[in-house]
Amino acid sequence: MTTHTLLLLPGDGIGPEIMVEVKKVLAWFNARGTVSFETDEDLVGGAAYDAHGKAISDAAMDKAMAADAVLFGAVGGPKWDSVPYDVRPEAGLLRLRKDMQLFANLRPAICYPALADASSLKPEVVEGLDILILRELTGGVYFGEPKEITELGNGQKRAVDTQVYESYEIDRIARAAFELARTRGGKVTSMEKRNVMKSGVLWNEVVTQAHADYQDVKLEHMLADAGGMQLVRWPKQFDVIVTDNLFGDMLSDVAAMLTGSLGMLPSASLGAPDPETGKRKALYEPVHGSAPDIAGQGAANPIAMIASFAMCLRYSFELVAEADLLEKAISAALDKGLRTRDIAQKGEATISTSQMGDAIVAELDALSA
Ligand code: NAD
Repeated sequence: MTTHTLLLLPGDGIGPEIMVEVKKVLAWFNARGTVSFETDEDLVGGAAYDAHGKAISDAAMDKAMAADAVLFGAVGGPKWDSVPYDVRPEAGLLRLRKDMQLFANLRPAICYPALADASSLKPEVVEGLDILILRELTGGVYFGEPKEITELGNGQKRAVDTQVYESYEIDRIARAAFELARTRGGKVTSMEKRNVMKSGVLWNEVVTQAHADYQDVKLEHMLADAGGMQLVRWPKQFDVIVTDNLFGDMLSDVAAMLTGSLGMLPSASLGAPDPETGKRKALYEPVHGSAPDIAGQGAANPIAMIASFAMCLRYSFELVAEADLLEKAISAALDKGLRTRDIAQKGEATISTSQMGDAIVAELDALSA
């Protein structure tokens, strides 16, 4: 039996609380004896700053580079709001993304039938929704140089951010999109602003070229602003959406709201496949932050974290049956009406973080009995 190695980085706030629930799921799979996971754990974010004076230690980074996959909780909180910029909690996550070269960020937006009423859109628009937003994560305007604010000497200032993409960066994310679409609905929608941005023209061109190798997948191009509109008008028209760092940041947050709560949303960040082993470096994390407002109350929803582990099973270990089983267990717990505070309707009874974790493990038992 292959043993998969995982580095757990719980982080701050509710991060450690939701990671405890993933450990229950890991223990369940290990006890079942068909797959084996070996875990190590380390500090990240504010917790690492308190211990080492930086947001992730070199030793933890080495572990992350060596592990088959990293499970990341969340970082940050008011305690660290005034620490120096370079060692702020988020710097730990940015270093992981940079050193592991995680260029592809996958954010599924799945609307569980039991939660269709919790969306701000009409239930018929979101019920059964299952789309995947693939955001380029390491290039574009967040990283392009020059990036500066200069004094113009006349009391005015000038701010510059630079949107830069090279064709290889677009090609590799496009190929990741086509490969993912093959495992899903077989359709990719590429979004850019080729009408006003040169980077959009190149994006469109390179995605179209890469498509030549994936003729079994349907490709459509959409301007990103129109895409935003379509995403709230009729999101079920999409399967995989591929877009750049900036548009992806915004569009994936829009898609997040389609499904109800931040506490439900998993994500994955993947690197390029290793030429020899074909394995990709990968980090899995909930979309939400450390939720300091509810930390320590047992009120956090662990589903985004547990569903992030389901993505890990699927994309890092190709354990598709196990991933399906875990997602079904989450759905079954919701079907029974179990709700943490964030997904409860007014007047509905709620359960705690650990009760939700236990309920999902109980559903794993029931589904595999
Ligand atoms: P947040 O995502 O932490 O919280 C936003 C709101 O959603 C809060 O009301 C919170 O209680 C709720 N929420 C979030 N996750 C939940 C869950 N699992 N269950 C129930 N409710 C949940 O965003 P924020 O308040 O803007 O940021 C808080 C801190 O987290 C900040 O320090 C911020 O920098 C950091 N942050 C970290 C990450 C990350 O680690 N990847 C991402 C975003 C924000």
